[in-house]
Parts: sequence; C-alpha cells; structure tokens
Amino acid sequence: MSKKQFKTESKKLMDLMINSIYTNKEIFLREIISNASDAIDKLHYRSLTDSTMKIDKKKFEIRISIDKDHRILTISDNGCGMTQEELENNLGTIAKSGSLAFKNENEHKKNIDIIGQFGVGFYSAFMVSSKVQVISRAYGSDTATLWESEGVDGYTIQPAERDTYGTDVILTIKEDNDDENYSDYLSEYHIKHLITKYSDYITYPIKMECEKRVPKKGKEGEYETKTEIETINSLIPLWKKNKNKITEEEYNTFYSDKFFDYEKPLKTIHFNLEGTMEFTALLYIPKVAPMNYYTKEYEKGLQLYSNGVLIMEKCSDLLPDYFSFVKGVIDSSDVPLNISRETLQQNKIVRLIAKNVETKIIKALEEMMKENPEDYKTFFKAFGNQLKFGIYNSYGMEKEKLQDFLLYETSEGRSVTFKEYVDSMKEDQKEIYYACGDTTSKIRLLPQVESVCDKGYEVLYLTDYVDEFVLQVLGSYQDKKFVNVCSSNLDLTTKEEKEELEKKNKDSKDLFKVMKEALPDIQDIRFTNKLKNHPVCLQSEGEVSVEMEKVINAMPTDEKIKASLILEINEHHEIVSKLEELYKKDKEALKEYSKILYAQARLIEGLPLDNPAEISNLIISNLAKEK
Ligand code: ADP
Repeated sequence: MSKKQFKTESKKLMDLMINSIYTNKEIFLREIISNASDAIDKLHYRSLTDSTMKIDKKKFEIRISIDKDHRILTISDNGCGMTQEELENNLGTIAKSGSLAFKNENEHKKNIDIIGQFGVGFYSAFMVSSKVQVISRAYGSDTATLWESEGVDGYTIQPAERDTYGTDVILTIKEDNDDENYSDYLSEYHIKHLITKYSDYITYPIKMECEKRVPKKGKEGEYETKTEIETINSLIPLWKKNKNKITEEEYNTFYSDKFFDYEKPLKTIHFNLEGTMEFTALLYIPKVAPMNYYTKEYEKGLQLYSNGVLIMEKCSDLLPDYFSFVKGVIDSSDVPLNISRETLQQNKIVRLIAKNVETKIIKALEEMMKENPEDYKTFFKAFGNQLKFGIYNSYGMEKEKLQDFLLYETSEGRSVTFKEYVDSMKEDQKEIYYACGDTTSKIRLLPQVESVCDKGYEVLYLTDYVDEFVLQVLGSYQDKKFVNVCSSNLDLTTKEEKEELEKKNKDSKDLFKVMKEALPDIQDIRFTNKLKNHPVCLQSEGEVSVEMEKVINAMPTDEKIKASLILEINEHHEIVSKLEELYKKDKEALKEYSKILYAQARLIEGLPLDNPAEISNLIISNLAKEK
C-alpha cells in the first residue's frame, strides 16, 4: 500500500506538533472531543431538517476507552462520520485558520502561540501519539475507511470495518521520557480530570469505561473490580449553568476553545432573560482584534442555539455592525429549530434578543470604562475604530449610543472622553478644540496647536483618518461645537487685537498682492497674531480641512479635492520686516521668498510639495547669497 504525502503546510504543522516543546500538550483531548461533538452536531442538525432520517437522539454519545497494555486511547463518536474522500481532504490538510497563522512558522516562540491560538485541531494528537488511526463511516454509507499515520512521512488509507456510522480516533500513546509522562493519558483518573477541565460543557454525554471496586455478592467484606460505563461530563452547556458556580477559568477556556482566541477575553457577559420570551446569552469582548477584523473577510455573528441545539454558527442579525467584535452564544427555546437565514431577519424573537444583547454590551462597556479604565483603553485600541465607523456610517444616527465611548489623546497628555473634556473646560471656553495629524507628536508641533495651548485650552489630538469625519458628523457635543484649531473659524483674540491686525492687513494689501502672484494655489495671504514662534501656517476655509484633503487624496479614486488655503504669516516674526524690505527693493526676490514660506507651511502641515526641486534650489541659492 502506497503512502500518501501530506500537503506541505500540514507537514510543517505536524512536524511542529511532534517535536513540540509546548507544555500544554493535554489540550489534544479537548480538540478531539470537540471534533466529535461537532460531528454529532452536524448529524443532529441534519436529522432535524430531514424527516426521512431515523436517528435516536438519545443515543448520541462520545465514548472514551483505554487499553493500557497496548498504550491505546480511543475516542469514538456516533456523529456524521467521513467518507474516504472526506478523510483525505480533512485530515490530509490543515484547516484554513491554521494555515493563515502558519506564516509565522520560522519563529519558534510564535509557533507555540499558534498551538495556543488555534488549538490546531486534530493534529494536536501527534503531540502525544506515536501513531494515529482514524476509522470512520459516513452516515448513509455502508463502508468504512481507515486512515493511519505515524507522522510527517505521510499517511495510508484503506477500507475498514465499522458497525455503524461515526468515527473512532485511535491514539497509540508515546513512551514516557525524561520530560514527559505520556502514560498519564492512559490513566482513567487523569483523563476524567481532563474531560471535566476542558470538555464539561459538551452537550453530548462523554462516556468512559471505568473500573470500580464493588462488594462481592454473597461474600461479605470481599471486593471485586468491575467495569462500569460512566458519564464524565455534566452535560449542561456552560451558559446554562448557574453563574455563581462558574469559575473565570471555565469561562476563559470555553472562550478560547470555541472562538479560537489565545488571549483571554477582556470581559465576559453572562445573562438570561425570562418573561414573554426566554433566552440565555454568554458573550465575550475580546482583547485583540482578529487578524482579519478590519477586512471584508471578517464575519460578525453569535452562535445561535435552540434549546441546546446549534442551529447557526454565525447569526449576524444578533449584532449591530459597530459591535461586530463581540463573540458568544445565544440559546433560546423560543427560536424555532428550522429557522432559515431568510426568515431570521423577520423573526420577532431574534430582533428582541438582538436589542437586549445590544443594551447589555453597552452596559458592559460603560462598566469597563468606569471600573477598569486600563482594560477599556486596551479595548478601544483594538476596536475603537469600529465604534467610530458606527457613528460615521450611520450619519450620526447612532451617535447618542456611541459618542461617549470614544477616547482621544489631548494636549494635556491624557486620554479623555468628550464628556471628560467638556467637564474640565475653562470657564470662558465655548468650543471643543481639536487638531489632526498622523501622530500625536506631529500634532503637538503644529503652530496652531501651540497657540491654543498657550491660552490654556486643551486640544484633542485626532490621529486616525476617520476621526475628523466622525467629529463632523457629530457636529457638537453638549452644545459645544467641535472646532479644528487649524481652521479659520477659530478666533481667540480680543477686539482690540483684532482691529489692530485688521488694519495691518489692510495696509499690507500691496505686499500680499505681489506675494500671491507667486502662489496660485493660495486663496489668500494675511498676517496673524495667533502664532508664537512659527513664522507661517496654513489655514483652511470652508468644509474641507487640510487633513481631509490628505485623507481623500490618498484614496484610490480619481476624485481629488483641494482645501481652500490661506497662508498666514506671524505678524511678530522677524521675517515680516524682511518681506517689507524686499517689497520695496526687489519684487522678484519677494516672490522667491513667498514660495519658500508657503513650502515651509505645507511641510509643517505634513502636506507634499508639488515642486520640491524648485523649492530646494531656491532655498540653497538664497542661503548662498546671505551673510
Ligand atoms: P477543525 O476542527 O478546526 O476544522 P481539525 O483539524 O480538528 O480542524 O479537523 C479537520 C476536519 O476533519 C474537521 O473540520 C471535520 O470536518 C473533520 N473531522 C475531524 N474529526 C471528525 C470526527 N470525529 N467526525 C467527523 N469529522 C471529523
């Protein structure tokens, strides 16, 4: 019989398993039991929708047996089973989720993470086994198949016998060595312990033949050993258990097992509702965003159970888009078993559940903000953008719900909500100030920010490209308008100062006229008294800010927009007298200076130059002239 080769990625993963220094090898049992439970789920669900199938649901079970003499541990199920083709496809390649993570294979430490992160399913058996055999018979088929492998060399496939549908996973447990006592996995006691630790919530009975010392019949005082079949797990799904009796570890194990996340969740929300309808929810807020979270591939949704029977893996109607990061389980006896994706949306119960779920998530986030601000920051780092999209995509319709969850860094070096910002506003402050840029350190250096901070006001730092759009959609918070400190709407000067400046600008009309001739991009030029040290800055007028120009033009469309720009010159800067002198003596030089000043203003804003070579030459030739 010829040996077949594993797909390359599977081979690598298997190699990793066999030589693993992963200390948590015991998870292999959880993985295999979980596969068995899934297989029964599949058959169970099929039988619900196909009335011709005659299956006694009471007989669904997972069976564990131990043969110490031959070092064999067998896990059997009476689920859907696999055909020969399915065996080859399913066990000859690793699951997609695993292969994705597998890109990191070169780094040893990351390898260990992969094991923890994805559980890696069936292949984890190779961490503890020298040989793995799978005998499977698909439901509806009258033949069975044996799949067998001793590791990376490959696997064989041949016809086999099996009385009925289902699967046996037969593990030949490795010999003990200095580091590892593999024989533990042949100990009834230890296996029982592992089942209660990791697989207690499995909804089908996990049965095991256990040896028991019982009194010998008719012979008082004497005992004999008998084997008895025991159900090890409590059979109650975790979400149906009494909240007070569930440990944090149980919640977390369930989470990582079901949702393939190696990080503990930030928050667990477990509740049930009774009344006109009933349902139980076990929800989790993850700590890190999945790799594909901000892509189209990410599918939101909660697992939907109807009285303990899984009817939908990812029910998207249960979660609003802005909370798409939430993972979890909903179980309701009021949801019909035969509900389809189409009828789901119209289902009143589902809508009611979704509403309740949303309210609970909001409450949980509020609680986290208040009680564990550090956790909340972690959460916001991972999923804050999703909340921002929520405000933005709904054109502000969801703003009441979401706006208080946003966090921004400020010029005072703290991270605040809008409410916290407003609560600590200066008495004479009427508006909420913000500034935009790629990073907070770049924003800090903006001349306009400096001048607003100098007056004792706090400025919100917006570093994400959606931020300014979000603030525009919001418009104001508690009747305080959001004002970009780089827009011309901002004016913090006194009446006298204003009048003085106006006069100076009027008097310099001719100077500006010459300068503007060199700067066709610019709407206007004027002096300002807002700047402290910087010679120049750019102000935008109208709806489109400088930051928005950057964001929109970076998008891959042909539509380019331009902010309407005003070049402002610091009226107290020494450059002013130079400009005035040139106006009198050398208008061509004045134009060159204008170009350089405008280029500097663009650089400070982080905007590109259309003519970098020209500007560079101008600067250098003027440097050469001076002194
Ligand atoms: P995952 O469970 O993450 O998909 P595994 O490597 O654990 O990855 O299993 C691969 C596939 O093999 C499963 O998706 C399933 O289709 C099939 N499989 C594994 N164990 C069983 C079983 N006991 N009964 C039926 N199919 C199974």
